[in-house]
Amino acid sequence: MKVYKFGGASVRDAAGIRNVGTIIQREAGNDLVVVVSAMGKTTNALEEIVVSYMAGRTDEALLRWQNVVIAHELIIAEFELPDELLAPIRNLFSSVAAKLTTPSPGSYDAVYDQLVSIGELVSTRIVAAYLIHIGLTVRWADARQLVRTDDTFREGKVDWTATQSLIQDFADDKTGLVITQGFIGGTSDGETTTLGREGSDYSAAIFGYSLGAESITIWKDVPGVLNADPRYFDETVLLPSLTYQDATELAYYGATVIHPKTIKPLQNKGIPLYVKSFLKPDQPGTLVGAHTVDKTTPSFIFKVNQLLISLHPTDFSFIAEDNLSLIFGLFATAGVKINLMQNTALSFSVVVDSKPDRIPDLLERLRGHFRVTYNEALELITIRHYDQSTIDRVLVGKKLLLEQKSRSTVQLVARDES
Ligand code: ADP
Ligand code: ASP
Ligand code: MG
Repeated sequence: MKVYKFGGASVRDAAGIRNVGTIIQREAGNDLVVVVSAMGKTTNALEEIVVSYMAGRTDEALLRWQNVVIAHELIIAEFELPDELLAPIRNLFSSVAAKLTTPSPGSYDAVYDQLVSIGELVSTRIVAAYLIHIGLTVRWADARQLVRTDDTFREGKVDWTATQSLIQDFADDKTGLVITQGFIGGTSDGETTTLGREGSDYSAAIFGYSLGAESITIWKDVPGVLNADPRYFDETVLLPSLTYQDATELAYYGATVIHPKTIKPLQNKGIPLYVKSFLKPDQPGTLVGAHTVDKTTPSFIFKVNQLLISLHPTDFSFIAEDNLSLIFGLFATAGVKINLMQNTALSFSVVVDSKPDRIPDLLERLRGHFRVTYNEALELITIRHYDQSTIDRVLVGKKLLLEQKSRSTVQLVARDES
């Protein structure tokens, strides 16, 4: 049994869905669970609908929803599906329109999950309908009933025991070809949750773990994991194989090609992860697994829009244990993840993502205890398996503010002055 995951880029139009069909057909006759994300940028569009709806701007929400419907209808039209295959898709469309015309009783985050999850429900209905139409036998599975989470809306925490037994009961001994949603889950009360943005890779790992899959493959618009994001770097090279640890660290430092939560469940069961190109499915891609890797190509991870915050005790006291626990408590309360930290006797510096919804609150809390200074609009560059020439190369045209080295990794906080 294998698990495949297709992200938004792979199913963004009719040609993409046909291509996905071709890749799936290569597994004909084998048990295969296929996890699919929302099409293209649908999730972003749905987030905007939530904003309008929760602000009471019903007309705006409906108009935005109409655009989402039209985008999907244009794709469906290319497949010439019979009515019985169209019905579940159209039912979804009308249920959302009905919901948007009535005010919501729930909290923002709960409503967010109800509405934003529609992207994956629609995409999987369409992909399943297409596959049935071309002659495959498909089981459509509702991940809200299989991936059990708590009620932390927008960031559902998976209940692994319940999830494993729900998924195993569903798959039973007749898995066949299953199409299900990434990114979404449900509580024991039947409420819809989501697992955090970009969470479909993680969903694939959840299904793979629960079923003890022989492998999982995430199909991307890149040849595999590269030594840098090709959006920022011209000369990238493919990393043909990575250890679980390497992949975890790359994802942790911000290589967005794999969602950071994906690796742990796979590592725990020794399940190999392939990252492959949906455009060139015959190419080997990247294998992430338990093997050893002897070649160490320097890898780069860029994070832009970083904020360097420095804290100074107001009374010239040292940065000591009591200060540290206070500082970490304040970051945890504000819900801000620390990307890098460094301390001296009289100051403590941290680098964080500059998120407008969290940082002002954090700064206010910090100012209650420390003198606070900060630098904005910085880059955090992480280089794994570095050498001095790669450091010099990435710092051309940049002013270095802070540097931290371990044996395998260097992190540079810099301002672009070019
Ligand atoms: P999905 O369609 O599954 O959502 P994503 O867009 O989330 O796919 O991930 C693929 C993208 O990840 C690539 O288009 C690429 O720009 C980006 N990326 C970032 N870091 C890397 C890396 N080290 N190797 C390959 N791609 C990377
Ligand atoms: N559709 C969701 C998102 O865009 C989940 C995913 O694509 O991984 O965040
Ligand atoms: Mg994605």
